Amino acid sequence: MMRQVAGGILWVGLFVGICVAPLVFALIGTARAGQGFWTDFSVALGFVGLALLGIQFALVARVRSVSEPFGTDAVIQFHRQVGGVGLVFVLTHVALSAQWSELVRFDVSDTPARVWFGAAGASALLLLVASSLWRRRLRLSYEMWQRVHAALAVVAVLAAVTHVLLVSYYVDSLWKRALWMVMSAAFLGLLVWVRLLRPLRLRRRPWTVHRVVPERGTTTVLQLRPVGHPGLRFEPGQFAWFSIGRSPFHLTSHPFSFCSSAESEGQIAVAIKAAGDFTSTVRDVEPGTTVYVDGPHGVFSIDQYEGAGYCFLAGGVGVAPIVSMLGTLADRGDARPVVLFSAHGSWDSVPLRDEVEALTRRLDLRVVHVLNQPPPEWTGETGYISAEVLRRHLPSRYDRFQFFICGPNPMLDAMEDLLNQLGVPLDRIHTERFAWV
Ligand SMILES: Cc1cc2nc3c(=O)[nH]c(=O)nc-3n(C[C@H](O)[C@H](O)[C@H](O)COP(=O)(O)OP(=O)(O)OC[C@H]3O[C@@H](n4cnc5c(N)ncnc54)[C@H](O)[C@@H]3O)c2cc1C
Repeated sequence: MMRQVAGGILWVGLFVGICVAPLVFALIGTARAGQGFWTDFSVALGFVGLALLGIQFALVARVRSVSEPFGTDAVIQFHRQVGGVGLVFVLTHVALSAQWSELVRFDVSDTPARVWFGAAGASALLLLVASSLWRRRLRLSYEMWQRVHAALAVVAVLAAVTHVLLVSYYVDSLWKRALWMVMSAAFLGLLVWVRLLRPLRLRRRPWTVHRVVPERGTTTVLQLRPVGHPGLRFEPGQFAWFSIGRSPFHLTSHPFSFCSSAESEGQIAVAIKAAGDFTSTVRDVEPGTTVYVDGPHGVFSIDQYEGAGYCFLAGGVGVAPIVSMLGTLADRGDARPVVLFSAHGSWDSVPLRDEVEALTRRLDLRVVHVLNQPPPEWTGETGYISAEVLRRHLPSRYDRFQFFICGPNPMLDAMEDLLNQLGVPLDRIHTERFAWV
């Protein structure tokens, strides 16, 4: 925990440092006078906006030491917010610096390159944010959006850096230009690492599909074995990025949580629900298919938070990382009390139901299934998980438990509110969101 707090402080410090670095570069050793308050202010906004954009590459580079202190979904959330703030900075910079009175005399041949590059950078950024906010409305598939997003991000940063160098006023000396080039190279270097070096490393550690097990509903379990290497160690509840039957260089890989015990060596399993183009094809995957696994990632794990007991709240296939944590507790012979609230539509759509049932015999585990389309003979809980349902089944000392929630986003939000009502402190509530964009 201390290591994570220290890591968090370090990254926040670095973040602030990178944001203000361009301003410091501009001020240090300049022989030129300022250009008046509004121009200088506008340039400062542009510099900070550009730094914020550069940092975005680091936030999504899946660097474990960056995401560990905060959690991957918090980093993705931050990425989204920083993108919005960066856009506001850049647009304000454009609004304050553009010579609006000259617009009526606009002539393409007369417009200097620095203006074209500035406009290209700002337009790419605007498109990037708009396509992220309205991806579904624009009917962009997730994979297409990822390609567009990556391409626009590179265009925005390259065009903006070229604009800075062409304007030149605040980066007039050789060393300032060199510093700008180094900063830009660092961000592009990240891209090379993510798209080239890491896939090369993954290619040396392939996995193979050992078994394909159809589950209830539209879920399929894939059991994977390492080929020519010992496999990987993970914490129960963590996830990895999987390229199934695809090259590790493919632009898109998919995140899935491990559903197997962290104590079972040499084999991993994932439970995948058919939710879209790619996941609908998983049931047809052949044993022997090659898989590349980039992980483990995430901090949604009992190994991160010590408690007198655990309460898990699962919705649909959100039960997958929870089954991994339950299986690990059982393999470790853990005797602490555990309660699982498992919310589903129908009884026949509950994924990993048999695994959970088997684990009740190996753990001090109470399972509460909550169905919103119960069969006629159902005597258990119905509807959605409510405060009453929680009160009915939680042991009296639940205030000493750690709480883990995984499921669809609306369920996560509702469960966080319910636990708040029950007086569970925020630092005991841990969530994993399966839908980021
Ligand atoms: C940390 C994490 C763990 C997950 N664990 C599981 C799991 O154990 N089992 C399971 O069934 N699902 C899990 N998911 C969800 C799973 O990744 C998506 O359902 C799957 O990628 C959908 O892909 P698709 O092409 O079939 O669907 P699409 O129709 O292309 O997309 C459906 C939705 O899935 C999400 N998605 C699609 N592709 C990606 C991607 N490459 N990266 C991130 N999100 C994507 C988007 O929100 C998208 O709107 C997890 C997601 C995250 C973020």
